[in-house]
Parts: sequence; structure tokens; C-alpha cells
Amino acid sequence: MRVLIDSNVLISAALFPNGVPCRAYPTMSAPPDGGTICEMDKTREIQVDIVRSGRKSLAVEIRQDGGVLVRAPYGLSQARIRAFLDAKRDWIETRRAAVLTRRQAADSLEKLTAAELDALAAAARTDLTERTARFAPMVGVTYGRVTIRRQRTRWGSCSAKGNLNFNCLLMLAPPEVRDYVAVHELCHRKHMDHSRRFWAEVERVLPDWRERRRWLRDNGELLMARLDRDGTGV
Ligand SMILES: [Zn+2]
Repeated sequence: MRVLIDSNVLISAALFPNGVPCRAYPTMSAPPDGGTICEMDKTREIQVDIVRSGRKSLAVEIRQDGGVLVRAPYGLSQARIRAFLDAKRDWIETRRAAVLTRRQAADSLEKLTAAELDALAAAARTDLTERTARFAPMVGVTYGRVTIRRQRTRWGSCSAKGNLNFNCLLMLAPPEVRDYVAVHELCHRKHMDHSRRFWAEVERVLPDWRERRRWLRDNGELLMARLDRDGTGV
């Protein structure tokens, strides 16, 4: 699928009268199509990236850095996109404030020390090995080695050979969430994708998997933020 990206399209603070804390973005006086989208207080501008594709409808999402991403059909005018953003203004402001607040909280968290990480990894080895062993017969699969990792990017993985990896930071999550990650990876022994059949398998074993996954989505970033860049502890 071909994707076009209009970069540096800015919308002015006029669209966001309540004011939204914003990073400084490179500014330009007019968008590529010549309309006036940005003016006035540059510090309150929000960058909107527009990704065009063969889709039929408009959608907006807030990225982790607070940027706004609009997915739009090829050829839809910027005026139509602005009208859409204007209609979505409250939602964008609320979501964006939440994303930025969460990010700020994550950045200010104290990093785990090397000793704390060692303790978490040791606890994770026992805990996740046990959960995996308990759920494997329920999923109806076998598996290879269980390895505990220290990562800022993923909670678990399953290799083609059936070896399972889990993040030691899971020990900072509730036990129900650790069960979910163990079951999730075990279900990859049946389906190496996130297809409907895969999720049906997860649901068979854990009917309330959505809530558990939501917890991880809502809080996961805060847990990951406890790990320093190179994952060795401070
Ligand atoms: Zn998966």
C-alpha cells in the first residue's frame, strides 16, 4: 500500500482555545496547499501529520510523543481534514493531555537499581516458569526454554522453536496480568500471529483477557520506564 505523508502541517492554537502544553515544533507560515493553517502563538501549535492511503474514512490518533496523526483517504482536501479536527477538538485535547501527563510521570520515575533488577529477574524466573507450566496443559501445548529478559519494548515473546521469553518487569504487574502474558505466549505455540483464531484461543483459557491486556496497555509504559536505557540498572 502506498502511503503519502504531509509533514509540517500545523494547526493553530485557535483550534485549541483551552491551550495544550506543547513541544516546540518547526513552524512554517503556510501548509503545502497554500491555505492558512498556522498563525499566532507558535508555542501552542500542535503538529498534525497526515498519512494518506486508500482508506475510505478519516481517523485521528495521538502518538506517544503527543503528536497528532490523522489517517485520511487520498485526495481529501485539507479543509475537510481541518473541519474533522475541529469537530474532534475536545477528544484530541483530553487524550493528548492524558498521553503527555503519563509520559511526564514515566520520565520522572526512579530507575531500578542493578540489585533490584537482579531480584526481579530471580523472582520472575520462579514465578513465570510456574505460571507457564500451569497453563501449558490448559492451552494444550509444549514449550522449550523459559528465559527472563530485561527490556523496555516487550513483555514476552515466543520463538519458532517454542522457547518463551518474559520481561522481568512483569513482576511489578498484578498476578492476573502475568497469567495473561504467559497464556498469550503459550497460545503462540498454536498460532504464530495475532489472528482471530489466536485471540479465540486466549479467550478460551482466559475469558477476561481483555481487561488484563488493558491493564498492561494503561500501565505498561510506567513499568517499562523503571528500566534505564541499557537495561542494567542504575
Ligand atoms: Zn503476541
